[in-house]
Amino acid sequence: MIIRFLKWILSWRIWGPKICAYPFSRMEISGKDFFLSCCADWMAPSYYKLEKGLKPWNGPQALELRKKILNGDYSYCQTSICQVPRYPLFFLKLLGLFDLFSKVLPNTPLSKNNLKAMSNGESEMPDSPKSLVIQGDFRCNLDCPSCRSQLITTLDASAEKQLERASSDLLKYQDAEIIQLAGDGEPFFSSWHREQIKNFTPQNYPHLKKLILYTNGLLVDSENFQLLSPGSKMINNIIVSIDAGDEATYKRVRRGDWQRLLRNLKWMSELRQKGVLESFRICFVARKENYNSMSAFVDLGHSLKVDQIIFRQLVPWQGMGISNYSEEALHLPENPLHPRYRELCLQLARRSKVVMRAL
Ligand code: SF4
Repeated sequence: MIIRFLKWILSWRIWGPKICAYPFSRMEISGKDFFLSCCADWMAPSYYKLEKGLKPWNGPQALELRKKILNGDYSYCQTSICQVPRYPLFFLKLLGLFDLFSKVLPNTPLSKNNLKAMSNGESEMPDSPKSLVIQGDFRCNLDCPSCRSQLITTLDASAEKQLERASSDLLKYQDAEIIQLAGDGEPFFSSWHREQIKNFTPQNYPHLKKLILYTNGLLVDSENFQLLSPGSKMINNIIVSIDAGDEATYKRVRRGDWQRLLRNLKWMSELRQKGVLESFRICFVARKENYNSMSAFVDLGHSLKVDQIIFRQLVPWQGMGISNYSEEALHLPENPLHPRYRELCLQLARRSKVVMRAL
């Protein structure tokens, strides 16, 4: 109630433009030749036409994006897809003053210098990004249609070269506080990610507070944690993407081994109970094929004592394996199943630990 009231107050126009803090604090490391602070598909086509430069963090593309955002202009962003919250500058300054960034914007640790530069309307950031997202390797042990149309287990020469660039870029940002592993492939499957993981030691990353693993969970077990040590010991947040609440639905939407997944989830849950993990979350991209198992998914989350049970919308990706998007995307009001789906989402949103972003 208080949070809703606060959000309402912050939505008032009198506070000036609302700022997305991502481009001021967060950067993708993937070896690509452009600057990204969030998901590639959230950016408008016009963004990719901007001059890029050689140093992405303070290159012309990043500066132009920040300049626009400081003016409250989001024409380079697809705001209908992006769900990252935006706040007025005075509120961000208050968060900085009371050291509350990690509570309110857990993935956006803005350094004092960068916050000061932002407050002065500058688009060049004096400090390097404190939050990194390591992606660019699409290899995965699964081929879920909501993500891809075929299994990707190998890379071509240009992708290998791109990852080589990413490895050397990563070495430039060893003062990062937060590192997110993937979101576009399976880090425990990709040989490149596996090598990176081993290196996340306190010696190499002395300021690292959070190592967040995005995974499908099928390879996350004690054996692999052992093989990927010492870096795997730094993994303290896990988000498992599942998309099903029962075995039959899982077989349909992910074609993975449900029993193995359950064993691994139980093991991760134990790590959370012992305090090895700071947070353990599970995630579900809702669509026509799986929405009947949403309720069972909430039960599963409760039985595993997870911190959050997250539901997301089906977003259209380039190269996804779903050809009938409008039929599958139940969050679209024109979809005939939308009223039923909406009611289910509202019902589930009232259950504990549920984060409903699927509507
Ligand atoms: S797409 Fe969203 S997260 Fe990305 S820069 Fe724009 S507003 Fe921020």
